[in-house]
Amino acid sequence: MPLKDYLITEEPYYQSTGKEIAHFEAAYADRMPIMLKGPTGCGKTRFVEHIAYRLRKPLVTVSCHEDMTASDLVGRYLLDANGTVWQDGPLTLAVRHGAICYLDEIVEARQDTTVVIHSLTDDRRILSLEKKNEVVRAHPDFQLVISYNPGYQSVLKDLKESTKQRFGAIDFSYPSAKLEAEIVCHESGVEQAVADKLVKIAERSRNLRGHGLEEGASTRMLIHVGQLINRGVPLGEACDVALVLPITDDPDIRSALGSAISACA
Ligand code: ADP
Repeated sequence: MPLKDYLITEEPYYQSTGKEIAHFEAAYADRMPIMLKGPTGCGKTRFVEHIAYRLRKPLVTVSCHEDMTASDLVGRYLLDANGTVWQDGPLTLAVRHGAICYLDEIVEARQDTTVVIHSLTDDRRILSLEKKNEVVRAHPDFQLVISYNPGYQSVLKDLKESTKQRFGAIDFSYPSAKLEAEIVCHESGVEQAVADKLVKIAERSRNLRGHGLEEGASTRMLIHVGQLINRGVPLGEACDVALVLPITDDPDIRSALGSAISACA
């Protein structure tokens, strides 16, 4: 099997927060393209890894960025000792061999990149490799999944309506306090009581969203704090290193977060 390196062999730990697994599996049955919407660090990537494991399908993940071109996704000719050889890009690999292709933060990519997915996300299910003069028909198992952070979007940087309307969507947000504490315990190894405190701190930081913070602390950040605590760093210092300093440079917001941390610690 050409994509065996992309198969996930051990079940990734994932705490379900609603009906997202059932909805995704129903969509996958018809290979419906799916958009995972939600803030950074709230479990979208972990979810897609878990789903790929459950469905026993290889997962090809691409982190999109503003310099990404269509060729980075689709493939290009490379020079070798015998001349030029075509090398499939990650999207083409997934299309040819039947993987789930996860394009993380697709809006970061240039518009010409998003256009290549159009013919894959309607009933044609084809990918044109223009430079190679080839049309690849999607393998029956191929599915496209993208992530999208509604908080970051501006008018200039958003998915086109014609792209959005090709996808079903699943909303992600931070898990409930109880679930989030469980996740933090599992992933960082801290005790329940510590995880509960960290979740309270995160909730306070999330209330500062729109009041100086673009986004509150994510579950990922809480796990980082937990990991430092596990290495013997006191809670307040761990919060500084892994939470306060990364998310803001504003002295007032830093001090507001500091007070929230002291109140919860
Ligand atoms: P996103 O893709 O939304 O930016 P990730 O999936 O990378 O976020 O989540 C960041 C980290 O938080 C993960 O590596 C995992 O440790 C943890 N995490 C978040 N949500 C969950 C969840 N529901 N179940 C298990 N782990 C989670």
